[in-house]
Amino acid sequence: MSEDYPCKLLDLERRFATDQACREYLFSLRWPQGFFCPRCEHRQAWAMKRGLWLCAGCRYQASTTAGTIFQDSRLPLTLWFRAIWYVTSLKNGVSAVTVQRILELGSYQTAWALLHKLRRAMVRPGRDRLGGRVEVDETYVGGLEEGVIGRLTQDKSLVLVAAQEDGEGIGRIRLRKVEQLTRAAVRDFVAGAIEPGSVIRTDGLNVYEGLEGYKHEAVVIKRQPAEASTLLPRVHRVASLVKRWLLGTHQGAVQGTHLDYYLDEYTFRFNRRKSASRGKLFYRLVQQAVQVEPKPYKTLVHPKG
Ligand SMILES: [Zn+2]
Repeated sequence: MSEDYPCKLLDLERRFATDQACREYLFSLRWPQGFFCPRCEHRQAWAMKRGLWLCAGCRYQASTTAGTIFQDSRLPLTLWFRAIWYVTSLKNGVSAVTVQRILELGSYQTAWALLHKLRRAMVRPGRDRLGGRVEVDETYVGGLEEGVIGRLTQDKSLVLVAAQEDGEGIGRIRLRKVEQLTRAAVRDFVAGAIEPGSVIRTDGLNVYEGLEGYKHEAVVIKRQPAEASTLLPRVHRVASLVKRWLLGTHQGAVQGTHLDYYLDEYTFRFNRRKSASRGKLFYRLVQQAVQVEPKPYKTLVHPKG
């Protein structure tokens, strides 16, 4: 199907003024070829009330939102759609405090959970890995003190950064929090983020050695920070942008256990920053939101628990 999305907030509010309109849009993205029974794969169904479909094959009552991140939500879809609009159309996204205020939600937790559910939809399964020439480095995020010397820290989270070269500029990026800077952690990150055969540029630290299946270029950095940013300019630029975003939009109020999901959100917008239309990002996120499994609140609060 052709990609169909609103272009301005006013378009969005007119077009998605009712839950019914939102449901129809979700239906078209979830079942682009028409209804498909999740139980018996039959293609015919009768529309019932509240977005339910009665399968003509097995009489199963399928719901447009069941099995997606919208499942069991007490929030009207019109509010979900506006939240998705703000997350995708504002350059820096929005914080839970702002979403609570703009959407007039009763509690901070509701806003917080809404944004976290959307973050779960920002990583597309089977997405393309980076390729060509890619810079890789580590950085520390969080904690209150700046200018900590050395690679060990108690208060900060360690984040691996990969940034693809695009001429003089930056192509796509990947970010991931790791517990420790080890060869195994680097190998795992690189395998998930970068196509084999790519050229990987890192500093001279030994954890970046021995990456099988990749061409490795180690640039040797002397102890001046100025040189690090010249030799691996892209990863350094990305690291400083991410930190500024966490401190600015989110006031630095991100716990280490949730950091990966914020990194996913940052990556989602960054990798689509050159997209001609913000409406297209809206479309992508809704499309991915009907493809990911529901995320109950407790798995949001304790993601690894
Ligand atoms: Zn069926």
